[in-house]
Amino acid sequence: TSFSEIGFSAKALTDNIRRCRYVKPTPIQKYAIPVAMAGRDLMACAQTGSGKTAAFCFPIINAILADKQRNKSSFHNSGAIGMAFPMALILAPTRELTCQIHEEAKKFSYQTGVKVVVVYGGAPIVQQLRNLERGVDILVATPGRLVDMIERSKVSLRNIKYLALDEADRMLDMGFERQVRKIVQQMEMPPPGSRQTMLFSATFPAEIQKLASDFLSNHIFLVA
Ligand code: AMP
Repeated sequence: TSFSEIGFSAKALTDNIRRCRYVKPTPIQKYAIPVAMAGRDLMACAQTGSGKTAAFCFPIINAILADKQRNKSSFHNSGAIGMAFPMALILAPTRELTCQIHEEAKKFSYQTGVKVVVVYGGAPIVQQLRNLERGVDILVATPGRLVDMIERSKVSLRNIKYLALDEADRMLDMGFERQVRKIVQQMEMPPPGSRQTMLFSATFPAEIQKLASDFLSNHIFLVA
């Protein structure tokens, strides 16, 4: 399998994948991308270094570009003054991981008009808010900082159509379950199933399975 066979509708994405010198999908990419592009929820077993970042970023970028194509004028990232309305949310446990995802997602969305912004705790909030004000399609966030921004009415999750949870087991280990649940509660938008959710985890203890049954609908379970 090659990326050209996967057939992303967004040519700009295909160009960027080539620019990154990705030729052959890794196993997790090979299995997860077609499932995600078919619109299905998924839970995937994925270790660091497996290529999971691209596995959730490519379908999200492709879908956002397709959405923008369909509704040429209506960008979803602006609304009430000072409040950001991202279409996609990627949650990860640490500052390091969110920054890594942000860097990769920016490369994948180069020259597409898709805006990627990262927010994380342990750093001043002011610059992050300024970045949000310039518009955001894909928000990469740690749970605590995102809850803070929601409570300050700086971010609304009302328009989220794509949600990825990266290293879900580590998020629970680090004590973020309450925040993660609070975040997901913010984006229950009718009709049910209108949000696509992808959960990535290295391990599958009972708590992760519970999270999956609460957040995912009719999902496919992948072990690459
Ligand atoms: P990740 O597991 O997402 O952190 O990716 C691990 C590393 O592999 C990163 O440096 C990626 O840029 C790289 N990578 C991911 N997918 C591919 C691919 N299909 N071909 C070549 N390199 C890749």
